[in-house]
Amino acid sequence: MITFEGVTKRYADGTVAVDDLSLQVPTGSITVFVGPSGCGKTTSLRMINRMIDPTSGRILLDEQDIRQIDPPTLRRGIGYVIQQAGLFPHRKIVDNIATVPYLLGWDRKKARGRAMELMERVGLDPKMAGRYPFQLSGGQQQRVGVARALAADPPVLLMDEPFSAVDPVVRASLQEELLRLQGELHKTIVFVTHDIDEAIKLGDTVAVLRVGGKLAQFADPPTLLTE
Ligand code: ADP
Ligand code: ADP
Repeated sequence: MITFEGVTKRYADGTVAVDDLSLQVPTGSITVFVGPSGCGKTTSLRMINRMIDPTSGRILLDEQDIRQIDPPTLRRGIGYVIQQAGLFPHRKIVDNIATVPYLLGWDRKKARGRAMELMERVGLDPKMAGRYPFQLSGGQQQRVGVARALAADPPVLLMDEPFSAVDPVVRASLQEELLRLQGELHKTIVFVTHDIDEAIKLGDTVAVLRVGGKLAQFADPPTLLTE
């Protein structure tokens, strides 16, 4: 479980990106942060893996304040997927997926074996393994991004608009794949999007944020739709 306790982030120029946010992301569920551009979604996500620290308030992972966990250890348990998959252009797909296992010092064969297994998991043809990112479609690259984030089997997955840059048909299939995958893996997922339909489709719980970083609603989709 991830707990935000009165979290505020004020940037150096005075912008309040996140304003007194308190909520809980239950273990094994998908919580979606949704709202217009500038409402503090990315800032909230980056505070979970300590790319940014709150100005005040605190974030707990299970019972522990994340500031008590050193960032490399924290990040080992957190997969991160961004909008443009952010793949290394000069590395083969298999090696992109195995990035974290290599960093963790797994031997090459084991790391690549894990990568091949993940390619299957996320619905990528193993024939893609030896290709380079530019040889893949946008949707395929996002699948690689998801596989890479899952490589070290982190319990937490942060996803920042992962499907926003692909066309609607591909987006719908990526959403289905994520739900299928989550049915097997039961990760604790924080998913950020500006698309309310996507939030309702994917979220076990949805946090609606307003510009200024205030939480407007926090509910499951059926409740949200009737409010
Ligand atoms: P979202 O992901 O919902 O689009 P962000 O978290 O990126 O929102 O940004 C929230 C607010 O904080 C916006 O007003 C944005 O301009 C501002 N902001 C983001 N990063 C910085 C920064 N490094 N310095 C100053 N303001 C920032
Ligand atoms: P290297 O970088 O060591 O020269 P290769 O070019 O032989 O490696 O391939 C890189 C990795 O990608 C291999 O470990 C292999 O598992 C995988 N791979 C490459 N092409 C395919 C393919 N067509 N089908 C399955 N796996 C492949």
